[in-house]
Amino acid sequence: MQRQHFARALGITRRHYSDVNSTQAQKLKINSSRLWNDIHHTAQWSAPGATTDAGGLCRLSGTTYDKRARDWFADQVRTLGASSYKVNATGSQIATFDGQKANVPPVAMGSHLDSVATGGRFDGPLGVLGALEVMRSFKEQGIKTHAPIALINWTNEEGARFMPPLGSSSVYAGQSSIEAAHASTANDGSGDTLGAALQAIGYVGDGPNTFQEFPIAGHFEIHVEQQTSLERPVNQSAGSKAGRASRSSKSSSMEKMGMPTLTR
Ligand SMILES: [Zn+2]
Repeated sequence: MQRQHFARALGITRRHYSDVNSTQAQKLKINSSRLWNDIHHTAQWSAPGATTDAGGLCRLSGTTYDKRARDWFADQVRTLGASSYKVNATGSQIATFDGQKANVPPVAMGSHLDSVATGGRFDGPLGVLGALEVMRSFKEQGIKTHAPIALINWTNEEGARFMPPLGSSSVYAGQSSIEAAHASTANDGSGDTLGAALQAIGYVGDGPNTFQEFPIAGHFEIHVEQQTSLERPVNQSAGSKAGRASRSSKSSSMEKMGMPTLTR
């Protein structure tokens, strides 16, 4: 998601939290092996030839591969006990988990499970699967958050198959309409539209479409802009074309360097 655009549209002031020194915060841990396995397990749903032992993923929005990953995500959040699971008109999946308070807006986490054509396995999926892993860890550790938590898989963020990008989040932010998002046309000249592709895989739903319909208190996203070289050994990925991710030592944000074909 293009954060400045998104935050500005919603009137959100960006704040940085770097203090993770509280005793409770230090106890928080996820199961990194499980997250790693999920990333590589779900990479099986990719166009043939795009994924190898070295990595890679081609799961364009609205394809059968996208449907398989979406169906898997739906199963996971239901199994985890989501109090609500919805798909909206632009195909975004929204799972909500109860917090201690029902009358406060949820804190959202997520990204996109669909990928760019020659992307890596982390670009997008890490944000959704990472959010899922956080929620699993909360459950296992008996942690009930103050606010509800929403896990979101946003549709067509990168615009790899349909232009313009941000197919669902721009509608959510009030910057576009459902009709315009559905009319987004395929980059391959086929004349396919996002709306028809989502319809074909059964992912046009009646869930909330806008911030007004589904207000959130904030949105966390782990996001890596990458091509497949991020997944190669370090000595092979050196050079200006390599996707690269590093964690800032003073904050929880990810610094990233993207390729020009990536929107975010
Ligand atoms: Zn991305």
